Amino acid sequence: MKIKNIDAHEILDSRGIPALEVKLTLEDGRTVKAAVPSGASTGTKEALEMRDGDERFGGKGVLKACAHVMEDILPQIKDMEVEDLIAIDEAMIQLDGTENKAKLGANAILGVSLAVARAGAISKGVELWQHLQEIYKFERPENWNFPVPMINVVNGGEHADSGLDIQEFMLVPSGFNTFAERLQAGAETYQALKKVLTGKGYRVAVGDEGGFAPALNANAEALELIIEAIGETKYEAGTQIKTGIDAAASEFFDKETGMYNLKLDNVSLDSEQMSAMYREWIEKYQMELIEDPMSEFDWDGWKMFNEQSGGDISVIADDLTVTNKKILDEAKEKNAANAILIKVNQIGSVTETARCVRAAKEYGMKVAVSHRSGETTDDFIGDLAVGFFADYVKFGSTARGERVCKYNRVAEIERETNK
Ligand code: PGA
Ligand code: ZN
Repeated sequence: MKIKNIDAHEILDSRGIPALEVKLTLEDGRTVKAAVPSGASTGTKEALEMRDGDERFGGKGVLKACAHVMEDILPQIKDMEVEDLIAIDEAMIQLDGTENKAKLGANAILGVSLAVARAGAISKGVELWQHLQEIYKFERPENWNFPVPMINVVNGGEHADSGLDIQEFMLVPSGFNTFAERLQAGAETYQALKKVLTGKGYRVAVGDEGGFAPALNANAEALELIIEAIGETKYEAGTQIKTGIDAAASEFFDKETGMYNLKLDNVSLDSEQMSAMYREWIEKYQMELIEDPMSEFDWDGWKMFNEQSGGDISVIADDLTVTNKKILDEAKEKNAANAILIKVNQIGSVTETARCVRAAKEYGMKVAVSHRSGETTDDFIGDLAVGFFADYVKFGSTARGERVCKYNRVAEIERETNK
């Protein structure tokens, strides 16, 4: 089916900052919508998010990107079939013509890409996850049984004013057979953590991703408290619920000195010392994974850490690889990581995202489909994670609407497909 019209406009994201939303009308009059997320701790090689830079919304308006959708993209793709997402994505990439989508904006291109994917599913009369799986020909791995959630329950770094240098402290409920059980265990532990924090006189206000943002005395204290909270539940730490962090280490790395400055702990560490600290944490706090342990400018640090710890945990590259297949190839060659974070807006189209996921799978790397700190109630990535058979999903804490809608969507797909 063909597109009758596309309207692009500004909506507000979960942080109160403009996001681009696309409303696509099909020839038969049916409509779909899709919204584009936005990050705070972004990798330098991410595709370009076009912001207006004028006086509206402190420069963060997206009207220019909206205009690109309606004036440049729509005329190009109007006569194409929405079922053919790959051809439409390729047409947009060509029309842009730059390496990082600087001409039209990755937010403009991605908004259309997401909406076209949804429209294709509707036109075919199938679920979105099924449509994505069919287009990109992903096969269900033998032992795959829905993803394990990475639940961010303590927020630091750029996501909160907690003073924590490490950006995210996560629950990873990997010791359960179903997604529903994993989610329940995570949600119950989140509530237990709230009690633990309150009991110690810490505040329980939340950060951008719905995790608590207490003013703790040390980074490791967050992991201590998480282990204590698991102890308050019926679950066992280490077997049923493990922990994880996203250090987002580029944010506290000093390129001049090559040192990592952990302000809260009052220490400056080199890559080797960082690795030693992580090794201790992995053991002590029953960790399943560490994301962005090193800076995107410290490839040697990545390689060293992955060689030391890649056999024990998932070493997940985010800012390092930015969902870019070319950089993933480099990471594979350098043995820098054994897993990759996947964020659709880092690269700017569903098709390029799929190509990156395919390469990661071919390299034997684990795949974690992720939200951004600036989100909307669009649950597209829930379908994407299932359609692409992701190993992990990282959608924030088990609180706040823009986070839980994605977990709820994965649970819904599990429920419906197991009927
Ligand atoms: P961001 O953070 O969306 O603010 O970039 C998420 C992450 O680093 O994983
Ligand atoms: Zn990250």
